[in-house]
Amino acid sequence: MVEPGRFFSAVLNATGDAVILTDRSGVIRQVNPAFHKLTGFAPGTLVGRNARELFGEVNDDGFCDELWSDATETRHYQSVRSKHSDGRAQVHALSMTPIRDENGGASDFLAVILSDSFQTDAAGGDVRRVGHDPLTGLPDRNLLADRVEQNILNAKRANKSIALLVMGLDRFTVINDALGYAAGDQLLKEVAERLGKVIRSSDTAARLDGDKFAVMTPISAIDDSVIVAEKVLHAVKKVFHIKGEEVFITFSIGISIFPTDGEDFNDLLKDGLSAMQFAKASGGAEYRFFASEMNAKARNRLDLEKRIRAALVNDEFVLFYQPKMDVATNKVKGAEALIRWIDPKHGMIGPGEFIPVAEECGLIVDIGTWCLRQACFQTKAWQDAGYAPIRMSVNVSAHQFKAKDLVDKVKKALDDSGLEAKWLELEITESMLMNDVEAAIARMQAVRDLGCGLSIDDFGTGYSSLSYLSRFPITTLKIDRAFIKDVQENQNTKEIARAIIGLSRGLNLEVVAEGAELLEHVEFLKDNGCDIIQGFFFSKPLPAKDFEAKLYRPQ
Ligand code: C2E
Ligand code: MG
Ligand code: MG
Repeated sequence: MVEPGRFFSAVLNATGDAVILTDRSGVIRQVNPAFHKLTGFAPGTLVGRNARELFGEVNDDGFCDELWSDATETRHYQSVRSKHSDGRAQVHALSMTPIRDENGGASDFLAVILSDSFQTDAAGGDVRRVGHDPLTGLPDRNLLADRVEQNILNAKRANKSIALLVMGLDRFTVINDALGYAAGDQLLKEVAERLGKVIRSSDTAARLDGDKFAVMTPISAIDDSVIVAEKVLHAVKKVFHIKGEEVFITFSIGISIFPTDGEDFNDLLKDGLSAMQFAKASGGAEYRFFASEMNAKARNRLDLEKRIRAALVNDEFVLFYQPKMDVATNKVKGAEALIRWIDPKHGMIGPGEFIPVAEECGLIVDIGTWCLRQACFQTKAWQDAGYAPIRMSVNVSAHQFKAKDLVDKVKKALDDSGLEAKWLELEITESMLMNDVEAAIARMQAVRDLGCGLSIDDFGTGYSSLSYLSRFPITTLKIDRAFIKDVQENQNTKEIARAIIGLSRGLNLEVVAEGAELLEHVEFLKDNGCDIIQGFFFSKPLPAKDFEAKLYRPQ
């Protein structure tokens, strides 16, 4: 009887599915012949290299971090891109399984690429693949149905939602009639290609029939489906060149949501089609939700996005500054810059109302850069006016923290304003650090190398593993308001606050408490050795002019 080891290696060698085993950072340990065949790399040339080289650039930012994350279950991705040795990107389904060591941590990862999911980026090729539309190479209606049902099962387990976007080309018959069927086919192929480029790796784009396409996307909020719909509308907006003619085309999109609109693929498709008809009837080139209240929500969301965009152009953002008091001297030691939006029509709007939307539509990057620069210039201006220097903290969003040019932007803000790096501190939150710890540490170190401080905001509310904390090159911990709020009556929060203060001391970090509103809070913090306190007890966030009155001149 054949022993298990030989049996498994025989299976690996015989299967047409490409299999790759990596360590937790992506370094390739083992691949099978089918993987060599798929990627075009010669046998023996892949082990020891990092698989991120193959999957990195060609997928969305952060996709590799997601693949090699601390997830506990197998994850299935419908259209992942990988790089062929000749430089082409190819698209296929991929499943990723973490392999646990005896401590329960993911020590290795097994990725499998199914041979029948493979397509080159030339969308289609000549080979008819089961479940795929021969013209465009996209999954067909049956395969889409399968994938939707599969995703519904996953979504049920994880309590998540799925959006099905049903999309029809507007005026397609006119183009077909005017330019002929061959041109129509060409257009459909190119539309399919553009669709393939805008969807995420966890989405499926399919051709239903004729001029109808669909995209299935797992979502965590309704807004996610709006983002996909807008990307699709945008992708087809640009001119197509078909047989020497310039062709313009638009989509009408109907969106149905699992579980609100339907429990299975057929229901979702039916609802999506009827919403699509509504979009067509009102002139096309737009998306409609099946559920009418969603349309109102989507309109508000879109309206807000437009207003945020305009606010940036019209200079409607201002920074407020909240003092951080040094309890030993009772003087302002630093400040946190907190953004406010002064909307000419709606008055002052707090960050809670627009930062999440700005974060989703990517505007946060421009807003964040503006904050950073504004805070640096203001801090330097106060120094130049002769006040004792203070350290300015600026909140950095997840998007900003991930962006490759964060360090360049910080450096430029410092250079342009003339502010010394030691007077600037960035505030990040724990959740930004958990996904890919190594990459986060490298990014943090780059910020520290500039000479800036680095603080973990809202500490205690995230999922920090204390074992990581000592590896983070940070300077400050900010205790979340939740642990200060009821220290006088809740023994547990009191102990947590004390523990965080003790922890900071042990790790040689500065500790800042936020949200001190009452004298009792301040006294508790002082008694327990917290050096710096921020909160309404001392001051609310103030406009620059009012904050200036709190600054003092060195004797
Ligand atoms: P955060 O960074 O944790 O900021 C502290 C928040 O607590 C501020 O709310 C501040 O006004 C509030 N606060 C301070 N002391 C007290 C207190 O004693 N009692 C109470 N009840 N609240 C207090 P704000 O200004 O509304 O900001 C909310 C969040 O919005 C911030 O939380 C931060 O995550 C985000 N944010 C603000 N400005 C920016 C920005 O420029 N960029 C980014 N990315 N996020 C920002
Ligand atoms: Mg903060
Ligand atoms: Mg905070």
